[in-house]
Amino acid sequence: MHITGKTKILGIIGNPIEHSMSPIFQNAAIALLGLDYVYVPFAVKKEDLEGLFTTFKAVDVRGFNVTIPHKESVLPFLHHVSDTARKIGAVNTVWLNQGEWYGTNTDIDGFIYPLQQLNRNWSEITPLVLGYGGASRAVVVGCSELLGCPEVKIFGRNKAKLEIFRESWAKTDLKAKISVYSWDELSNFIPHSSLIVNTTPVGMSSLTDESPLTPQQSSLIKQSAIAYDLIYNRSTLFLRQGKSQGATTIDGSEMLIKQGAIAFKIWTGKDAPESAMRETLYI
Ligand code: NAP
Repeated sequence: MHITGKTKILGIIGNPIEHSMSPIFQNAAIALLGLDYVYVPFAVKKEDLEGLFTTFKAVDVRGFNVTIPHKESVLPFLHHVSDTARKIGAVNTVWLNQGEWYGTNTDIDGFIYPLQQLNRNWSEITPLVLGYGGASRAVVVGCSELLGCPEVKIFGRNKAKLEIFRESWAKTDLKAKISVYSWDELSNFIPHSSLIVNTTPVGMSSLTDESPLTPQQSSLIKQSAIAYDLIYNRSTLFLRQGKSQGATTIDGSEMLIKQGAIAFKIWTGKDAPESAMRETLYI
């Protein structure tokens, strides 16, 4: 990479940020296309967020990704927010255009892309979504607004948090019905479900031999179902459980690369070299 006075700056803000894979695959894409950009990780504290927008504008940062814990907190600093990002209540991609900040959420497009490659009648499918955190919100909006699922069932371990999650959709004009259930009710629904999405971190890094589903619950997964894990690892226990039932499986690297590719196109105007980006994840 040859950085000069003309090189345009992109990046990602979050805290912590050192484990982010985005600088690796975004810089690989920049290099492959020979673009004069650089993508830099920035560790940003919450109290520094407001000043950051002024600083980034002053030094002409063209755009950046937003990750935990700032996806919700950046909203007040943006001049324009896409409808889907507003519905989710979270932004992961920001860009500067004629002195104004724009924000959208490409996680949602990243999430639905691998599903859209499958031939399914989404208007007849009620996804089961495990977890009610930030990623779960993108999954809910994706299933409802982009896939057209009539209902989304959310499962969580804390009844009060489940209720807050359900109520949070009341003021949005979400098309799908949102129903919430406690974890122990999963077994009643898995045998009838065509799409099960894990949005909990159970299965990642130190929890690689754990699954959100017990062996008994996983034995109820239908062969025709899709088991979708948002965790980036190619083979989590949840995915292995799905596979052993004969189900179709999708790992989180698909969503990660696609959300990054869409952001790349927004910033540079160029189609991202997705397969080269994907390869960097497994070096
Ligand atoms: P988050 O906001 O912290 O939400 C995590 C959710 O998981 C919460 O609902 C939490 O419930 C639940 N949970 C945690 N541990 C649990 C357990 N042992 N049993 C049951 N539920 C549990 O995190 P997030 O931002 O939504 O991210 C969640 C996962 O998605 C992470 O693994 C992240 O890496 C992944 N992700 C992937 C992509 C991608 O591009 N592939 C994008 C975004 C996120 P409690 O509040 O009750 O703890």
